[in-house]
Amino acid sequence: MTYPTQPTASHFIDGTYVEDTNGTPIAVIYPASGEQIATVYAATPKIVEQALASAKRAQKHWAALSGTERGRVLRRAADIMRERNHDLSVLETYDTGKPYQETIAVDATSGADALEYFGGLAGSLTGEHIQLGEDWVYTRREPLGVCVGIGAWNYPTQIACWKGAPALACGNAMLFKPSETTPLCALKVAEILHEAGLPAGIYNVIQGLGEVGASLVSDPRVAKVSLTGSVPTGKKVYAAAAAGMKHVTMELGGKSPLLIFDDADLDNAVGGAILGNFYSSGQVCSNGTRVFVQKGIKEAFLKRLTERLANAVIGDPLDEATSFGPMVSERQMNIVLDYIEQGKAEGARLVTGGERIDREGFYLQPTVFADVKDDMVIAREEIFGPVMAVLDFETEEDAIARANATEFGLSAGVFTSDLSRGHRVIAQLEAGSCFINSYNDAPVEAPFGGTKMSGVGRENSKDAINNYSELKSVYVRMGDVEAPY
Ligand code: NDP
Repeated sequence: MTYPTQPTASHFIDGTYVEDTNGTPIAVIYPASGEQIATVYAATPKIVEQALASAKRAQKHWAALSGTERGRVLRRAADIMRERNHDLSVLETYDTGKPYQETIAVDATSGADALEYFGGLAGSLTGEHIQLGEDWVYTRREPLGVCVGIGAWNYPTQIACWKGAPALACGNAMLFKPSETTPLCALKVAEILHEAGLPAGIYNVIQGLGEVGASLVSDPRVAKVSLTGSVPTGKKVYAAAAAGMKHVTMELGGKSPLLIFDDADLDNAVGGAILGNFYSSGQVCSNGTRVFVQKGIKEAFLKRLTERLANAVIGDPLDEATSFGPMVSERQMNIVLDYIEQGKAEGARLVTGGERIDREGFYLQPTVFADVKDDMVIAREEIFGPVMAVLDFETEEDAIARANATEFGLSAGVFTSDLSRGHRVIAQLEAGSCFINSYNDAPVEAPFGGTKMSGVGRENSKDAINNYSELKSVYVRMGDVEAPY
C-alpha cells in the first residue's frame, strides 16, 4: 500500500530525516484494514542523545530572533499545511483510521490554525514596566528552553502543532514524541516547519514507546513537558517531571457530563450528543460520554438519537461519504468491547449498537446505553470509544451534583433554551472546557484543558504563552543603595 507524503525515515532531527534500524521496530497499522503500511524504529539512546543535543544547541539562537521573525516562520508553515491539506489528511486517515471527511476538515487545518495564531502572537510577546517611585521593575518574558511534547494517538497532527506552535513562538525548542500507534503525522509537521524556514534542531521528532518518553522527561536538559494522554500516564510523567522541578502541561482523559434539559431544542441536543460521543469513533478526550437527560424527554431523545445514528455512513475512511470509521487499533477496539460487555452485564439498557462490525479492520457499532446508573463502570471510567451512557435526572441540583461526582474535570456541556440556566449550570460544573448549546468546539483562540484529574495548564489561546515562557523580573534602583552596615 502506498500513501501520499510518506515520511522517509523514523525520526526528524536537526533539520533532516534520520534512521536507526537498531531501534525496536514499531509496525504502523492501517486501522481500516489491519494491514501494515509502514515500520518505524524506536529511538535508541544514540538517537535520543542526538535529538536532545541538537535542540539544546539550536534553542538559544532561535530565542535570539525577534518574535516577528519567529512568527513569520510559523505563519509560512501554516500556509504550507493548508496548501497540502489533502495529502496530510489522507496521511492522518492512514495513521488513525479517522474518516477523510473528518481529517480534511479538522486535523491539518486545526494544526495550521495553531501555527498561524501563535505565529501572529509571537511579535507582540512582551514583559511589563512597573514604576515604583523613582525606581522601577521591568519583566522579561523568556523562553523555558528545550520542551518535550508527548502525544496521544487520536489527533497526531493537531497535537504536534498545539504543542509546537506556542513553544516555538516563545523561543523554545520542541522535541516531540508521537504515540507509537500513530507515528507518521508529526514527521510531516517537522518537515513543513523546516521547509518554512525553521532552523535545524528547533522541532525534532523521535519515535518510541513510553520508555523513550520517560527518558526525555528525566533528562536535565529538558525544561518542560507537555503530555496528551491518559490519567495513569499523566501521573507518572508529572511525578517524573516534578523530580526535576520542570514545568508541565497535562492534557489528560475525561468522562465529561452533557446535561440536556427538557426545554432544549431536541435536534440540537441530539446533534451535540452525537458530536460529543461518536466523532472520531468516540476517541476524543473531551467527549460528553455521560449524557444526563431530563426524565420527561428521555424517550423522545433516545428515539431521535437512534434515528439519526442510523444515518451514519460506516465504511472505507478514504471514501468522502464515510462519516464513521474504525477504532485506531485492535487493542483499543478490544478495550471498548470489554466495556460494552460490562455495560450489558451491569444491566444497562442497550438501545443500539453493541457489537463489532463484520468487516476487515477494527470497526465497532455506534453504541448507546440508556438507564445507566451513576455507579456503573460505563458511567465512571473513560472508555475512549463510541459508547454513550444516557442517565436520567429530574432536577437541576441533582444533575449538577451527579455531573460533578467524578475524579475527571475536562469538559461539560448543557443544552437548554433558558439562557440564565445555561450560564448558572455551567458556572457550577467542575470542568475546564465547557459548552452551552454546543459540544466539542475547540477553536485555537479559546483555552483548552482540564481541571481535577483531567490535567494541569491550558493549551491554545493567549494563555498557552504562560505555559511556554516564564517571567524574569528586574528591579532597577535609580538612587544609592542604603545598606545597614
Ligand atoms: P497514553 O497515556 O497511553 O499515552 C500517551 C503518550 O504517553 C504516548 O505517546 C505514550 O507512548 C507516552 N507514554 C506512556 N508512558 C509513558 C511514560 N512513563 N513516560 C513518558 N511517556 C509515556 O494515552 P493514549 O495514547 O492511549 O491516548 C488516549 C488518552 O489520551 C485518553 O485518556 C485521552 O483522554 C487522552 N487525551 C487527552 C486529550 C486532552 O487534551 N486532554 C486529548 C487527546 C487524548 P506510547 O503510546 O508510544 O507507548
